[in-house]
Amino acid sequence: MTLDARSISRLKGVNPHLVAVVQRAAEISPVKFIVTEGLRTKERQAQLKAAGASTTMNSRHLTGHAVDLAAVVDGEVRWDWPLYHKLAAAMQKAANELEVPIVWGGSWKSFPDGPHFELDRRTYPA
Ligand SMILES: [Zn+2]
Repeated sequence: MTLDARSISRLKGVNPHLVAVVQRAAEISPVKFIVTEGLRTKERQAQLKAAGASTTMNSRHLTGHAVDLAAVVDGEVRWDWPLYHKLAAAMQKAANELEVPIVWGGSWKSFPDGPHFELDRRTYPA
């Protein structure tokens, strides 16, 4: 699959290495997906934190080091975890190919975030 126009526009301001991983993942992923969010403003982050959708004001979205993806099945966005494990596997494979270390939010213990992928802070500090 290729990314749709809206997904591509949402990658604006995102680190080009992460954009390359997302684009490669789109080619190899068995699950279709869209990009729901890339670069985020401080104001929006504050709103998300207030709403309980995020736990931090130190989000990697603020610096263009993170993206959120949504799985699409039969034209509909789905939030089922098994889809995100497949998506994460495709993202990891793409990242390995391109030698860009990434971290999947779905692997976080305290606040698992299945749609979230970010560049590894050790290689890509803010
Ligand atoms: Zn995110």
